[in-house]
Amino acid sequence: MIIILLGPPGAGKGTQCERLVEKYKVVQLSTGDMLRAAVAAGTEMGQKAKEVMDRGDLVSDDIVVGIIADRIEEPDCANGFILDGFPRTVAQAEALDAMLADKGLQLDHVISMEVDEQALFARIEKRAAETGGARSDDNAETLKKRLEVYHEQTAPIIPYYRDKGALKTVDGMQDIDSVTKSLYAILD
Ligand code: AMP
Repeated sequence: MIIILLGPPGAGKGTQCERLVEKYKVVQLSTGDMLRAAVAAGTEMGQKAKEVMDRGDLVSDDIVVGIIADRIEEPDCANGFILDGFPRTVAQAEALDAMLADKGLQLDHVISMEVDEQALFARIEKRAAETGGARSDDNAETLKKRLEVYHEQTAPIIPYYRDKGALKTVDGMQDIDSVTKSLYAILD
């Protein structure tokens, strides 16, 4: 099963992904986590990415497409995967289509988590408190920028998938368990 989970920063993609991974025995592919791992490892790519991420901007399409292209070749992806935070631009969505077509694979579900953006500021503040500020981009100022970037560059992928008849939506403002149930209802 190949799933894309879409939604603005703080929509709850990561939290829901963990539950879907458990139930459907697929792997979570979070480009944000992979980039943070590269930053922590101090690779050249990580050093370049950190600056961009701290500003709330997007890392270049070439870099993230390359990361995903390599990652889906790994054996643990054979049973399926959930893309969390990728694609984030129409160019990335097109690159993903080409990548999957090349491997004879098909997207099964594209699910958009719909949220009230004002509520995201409180959620990100809570996440920053819970993680002891582990993410340097979890603050109101960077979130504002990340939301702008989301609207300008990522939101256009929603009509891209809608036009293909692939898009489903869930109400991401429900409590966590109810969102999970809504996702199960789509995926079961
Ligand atoms: P996330 O953990 O998904 O919120 O991602 C954190 C940051 O990593 C984003 O604000 C971007 O700077 C970068 N990033 C993650 N995924 C992508 C992507 N698919 N394309 C470009 N930049 C990304």
